[in-house]
Amino acid sequence: MRQTEQSQKAFEKAKEYFPGGVNSPVRAFRSVGSTPPFIDHAKGAYLYDIDGNQYIDYVLSWGPMILGHAQDKVIEAVTKTAVKGTSFGAPSPLETRLAELIQKRVPSMEEMRMVNSGTEATMSAIRLARGVTGREKFVKFKGCYHGHSDSFLVNAGSGVATFELEDSPGVPKDLIKQTLSVEYNNLQAVQDVFKRYPDEIAAVIIEPIAGNMGMVPAQPEFIQGIRKLTEEHGALFIFDEVMTGFRCDYDSAQGLYGVVPDLTTLGKVVGGGLPAAVFGGKRQYMKHIAPDGSIYQAGTLSGNPLAMAAGIATLEQLTREDYEYMNALAKKLVAGIDQAAAKYQVPIQTTCRGTMWGYFFNDQPVNNFEQSKASDQQYFAHVYRELLEEGIYLAPSQFETGFMSTAHTEQDIEATIQAFDRVFAKLT
Ligand code: PLP
Repeated sequence: MRQTEQSQKAFEKAKEYFPGGVNSPVRAFRSVGSTPPFIDHAKGAYLYDIDGNQYIDYVLSWGPMILGHAQDKVIEAVTKTAVKGTSFGAPSPLETRLAELIQKRVPSMEEMRMVNSGTEATMSAIRLARGVTGREKFVKFKGCYHGHSDSFLVNAGSGVATFELEDSPGVPKDLIKQTLSVEYNNLQAVQDVFKRYPDEIAAVIIEPIAGNMGMVPAQPEFIQGIRKLTEEHGALFIFDEVMTGFRCDYDSAQGLYGVVPDLTTLGKVVGGGLPAAVFGGKRQYMKHIAPDGSIYQAGTLSGNPLAMAAGIATLEQLTREDYEYMNALAKKLVAGIDQAAAKYQVPIQTTCRGTMWGYFFNDQPVNNFEQSKASDQQYFAHVYRELLEEGIYLAPSQFETGFMSTAHTEQDIEATIQAFDRVFAKLT
């Protein structure tokens, strides 16, 4: 049995200070009927909690830790930078170096701006799209999550879906009217919305591989169709690559799909585990950002040197071979889970794209939010709790996704598959 006494105590104390005892809702482990291990430290592919339990980590801080935790070169870069000062609030060459690395792999980002979180990046991208088109409505997809700013909290995935919060109180109704929420992987629905509001839509924003309704990749024709529709209607196409950027593939999702968006948002991996995110895109749009243009956006800690150093150290190390390695591990893992599920007649749908992977307990394919919500969430929670006992740390919600890092090994994958096998056997 896993020891949990210290974590339980720490959780009780945290509840005195934080809503639900946490600083981001899904961390409370409520939807899986459990309580969170409190983490002491992490190294490589492993998390260690304050009770001394070790876990194979597939959450990786919700995506950023693609080289594994406390990776030597990242730590060295951050440490060396920290002694020179932790924040200047003034330009430093580190920002330009990170931008150079980003642009090499995501050439559609002709100009960009550093921010501190994915939420800031998507929020700013929408403001820019509204500013340059003079239109107020935008299209998002049901089950996609683009952070917690007001306009995006409509049929959102991730924690919003986990806690069954359709729309959040506190968001002005008039603002929400400008958010048009349509079904994922349904091009007809996008055509219909453009037909209804032909000259009013500023942008379409998408998670090209959705990871916030569980993992649901967009069908290529869907993405290509949106590209065409947005061009025809003078709307901007925004790829929210906060999760997929430098994660699903060396060239990110836009490289994988071969589609050039107008604007892109990045986060997670780009900050190497420190708070950094980016929005950017075609110069013809980015030139409207202040001080060149009049669309305002700013940040006290934007381009923070520690975050830039961690991002640079991360991107400088990642090679195409690393993605092949992680992809092979992820494929092996989902194949093993599939096999174990088949052995015990557990209905399952697994997915894997690059270093992202996921599963639904469902006997039907999952291509959108409704289908994701129709999966067996109760069984998901049972399996989740048992896997945690086995030392496997997964995202504590059906509406999230799994990640792989370069630090994971064949042995980790084998151990995880065996754990799934034991859990399915136990619950059969
Ligand atoms: N966009 C996507 C696709 C995300 O997955 C997330 C967070 O998970 C965000 C935006 C928001 O990023 P942050 O949590 O850094 O604000």
